[in-house]
Amino acid sequence: MSDISASEYINQQNALEDEAREIMPWNPSHCTYVDGGLRQPVFACLSCGEIGVCYSCSIQCHANCELIELFTKRAFTCDCGTERQLAKPKKDNEYWCQLRKNTTQDIPSLSNSYGPNFKGYFCDCHKQYDPESDSTMIQCALGLECNEDWYHCACIVQTQNQIEEGEKPSNPTEQSLPLGFPSLESFDAFICWKCASRYKSVFRDLLAHSRSQDLIAHKIKHSSPASEKSEPNTGNSVDGLRKRKYDMENDESFSLMLLPGYKSVLLEIKAELEKTSKLYLFMDDIAPFLTEDEPVYVPPEDSDDDASTYELGTQALSSTVDRDVAAVGLRAMDGIKQKLSEFLQPFADSGQIVKEEDIRNFFKLQNKE
Ligand SMILES: [Zn+2]
Ligand SMILES: [Zn+2]
Ligand SMILES: [Zn+2]
Ligand SMILES: [Zn+2]
Ligand SMILES: [Zn+2]
Repeated sequence: MSDISASEYINQQNALEDEAREIMPWNPSHCTYVDGGLRQPVFACLSCGEIGVCYSCSIQCHANCELIELFTKRAFTCDCGTERQLAKPKKDNEYWCQLRKNTTQDIPSLSNSYGPNFKGYFCDCHKQYDPESDSTMIQCALGLECNEDWYHCACIVQTQNQIEEGEKPSNPTEQSLPLGFPSLESFDAFICWKCASRYKSVFRDLLAHSRSQDLIAHKIKHSSPASEKSEPNTGNSVDGLRKRKYDMENDESFSLMLLPGYKSVLLEIKAELEKTSKLYLFMDDIAPFLTEDEPVYVPPEDSDDDASTYELGTQALSSTVDRDVAAVGLRAMDGIKQKLSEFLQPFADSGQIVKEEDIRNFFKLQNKE
């Protein structure tokens, strides 16, 4: 860190804190492994064997790992410290999961399904998520074939114009959508062409249903790449084979967007169906989440004077004051801002320069307390 004035430092800290609070406003104190499969925020840890871990474990157990935020996944059980984890993040750790304090690896859930997102790849174009890119991505609401993948809007309508230009929007809050893509307000759920193709007869029945106008906002044709075109090397031959299979089986693939309020319309349709019909069984058995509310697990709110959060911030920052490396620690650094601001106030008042050494001394003092 180069020397900067205290007021600059405080301003930077405040901005980082606000950002951190926005991204991760919760108290990382509970591992959800014990709760079983939940729709919850999931983080893929590339360092520990491409496993998915819960919000709290991403901070408490994998802060020094390479993590990718996957947002929420359905029926997911935390795999921190289960037999899926390759090694302890730190060799000298006594525990596999620092929150569950298990000294031997726990049994992993059978229901977790691991798709390319857990390796850091998204969408049919198999790209890594680029937070700098202006291209909007949406998640498949069915997800049974694609593992609830995220898709670039441009890849859904099969146009390149937004992705390759890659220009940043002048106004970052402005949604930039490719030509031909419907407005995001016009639909509530997106079902990708892979998932729609897997349940082709179900979706054909829905499209032909007398209520389809109350249900379906948009149907977007998806043309398969020409069969002689070579497969991109995804590094995953199973995915490649499966892809080729559904390309051949489907002369016409399409994505669907469902209207706001689609759940109640589906329920009304379901109520009139024969209990043995394909459509009924699909809604009842295979995709009950399309007609039911799907609660999302939210970790407990963080409080300002939380000791564990405070310690985490201290640890992360005392080992290094390099902002990049401390970024993960900063996410957890909730209670420390107040004290640091108080410490820096005299510097700010006198316009004195803060040296890295001063910051280090501050954290040394905190550790002694
Ligand atoms: Zn966990
Ligand atoms: Zn890890
Ligand atoms: Zn853990
Ligand atoms: Zn894409
Ligand atoms: Zn899908």
